[in-house]
Amino acid sequence: MTRIYIALGANLSNPKETFKAALSLLENRAVSVKRVSGLWQSPSWPPGQGHPDYLNGAAEVEFDGSAKELLTILMDVEAVLGRERAERNAPRTLDLDILDFKGEIHKSGRLTLPHPRMLERGFVLFPLDQLNPEWTDPVSGLPILHFIARLEQDDVAAMKYVGTLI
Ligand code: AMP
Repeated sequence: MTRIYIALGANLSNPKETFKAALSLLENRAVSVKRVSGLWQSPSWPPGQGHPDYLNGAAEVEFDGSAKELLTILMDVEAVLGRERAERNAPRTLDLDILDFKGEIHKSGRLTLPHPRMLERGFVLFPLDQLNPEWTDPVSGLPILHFIARLEQDDVAAMKYVGTLI
């Protein structure tokens, strides 16, 4: 297990095709994709804006560089595949986040590890749990099930498993 986990999210165009393209661009940039989660569909947040549902998944990857170097690569891949993104908070062609980088704890302007707010989001926790049910939060040491049990029931009920990511 590499303990480097990336989250993938999209709610525009054809998310599944975008994810496939993103994973292959990552491979071209020395990010080796080891395993992928399933794909989960959930309503766009905040609710009531009429945006399409999101699709989310996660991948376990291997990477020899630093977390900041990985973030630069993720942003580059987002830029290559995300040209339709018009403005801030608009629906996303592709969103790539580092959830956990080898258990590192880091906070700077550009990068926060583990990813902020990941512990409150079913669409992050469900795919991560599929990849590693033994995952623990590097900050608190608490297991992933602790955070899954704390999710709002409405949010959990709205999550739909829609098959494999690739
Ligand atoms: P968003 O488009 O909402 O995913 O936000 C992207 C911004 O979040 C980027 O400018 C990153 O510098 C910043 N960021 C902070 N921590 C992380 C992380 N763990 N993974 C990805 N982006 C991060």
